[in-house]
Amino acid sequence: MVEFKYPEALEEIIIHLKRLPGIGRRTAERLALAMLKWKGEKIIAFGESLQKLPLTVTFCPECGGLAENDEKCLICQAPGRDTKLLCVLEDFSQIMSIESSSYYKGLYHVLGGKLSPLQNRSAADLNIDTLLQRIDKLEIREIILALSPDVEGQATAVYIANLLKDKAVKITRLAQGLPAGADISFADAATIGAALTGRRNI
Ligand SMILES: [Zn+2]
Repeated sequence: MVEFKYPEALEEIIIHLKRLPGIGRRTAERLALAMLKWKGEKIIAFGESLQKLPLTVTFCPECGGLAENDEKCLICQAPGRDTKLLCVLEDFSQIMSIESSSYYKGLYHVLGGKLSPLQNRSAADLNIDTLLQRIDKLEIREIILALSPDVEGQATAVYIANLLKDKAVKITRLAQGLPAGADISFADAATIGAALTGRRNI
């Protein structure tokens, strides 16, 4: 009996889709097969959008958030934000979670991860130097450490708090109330708002 195989180009798409979070082999197959039913020009447009992605979507040189064509992000450019308030996050994707809650009007700083001895990630791998520079340059009044409530996130918060202990900046962290083990990526707007409003000094 001949073993069933998808045509090679289809199999390649399935393998790419399977790399996405929450997508298993079966779902990847379904999505790839659904794409085949698109009209040709739609698939070509999708392919062109994917090609453009790494070329035009860049990271803000100030905060590390999503930006376009190496420019500053919309938040760093926006008038009316509180430029003395800085919210420190692990990942750029979390900015959207906080923005969608509309409780926060300060600026952001993306660390690019958290301290993790197991994954061999040390302070040098995180955007901590730039954090210290921005705190001085912008004369930040308060930083909110919105890091995950797990051991690594808390170790990262303590590490940063220690670095800042001689600076005249208030350091707070989100109030408890986020689901145990979950970070802001999974919280709804009201929960994020409550966690920000009830933030506490470290
Ligand atoms: Zn920015």
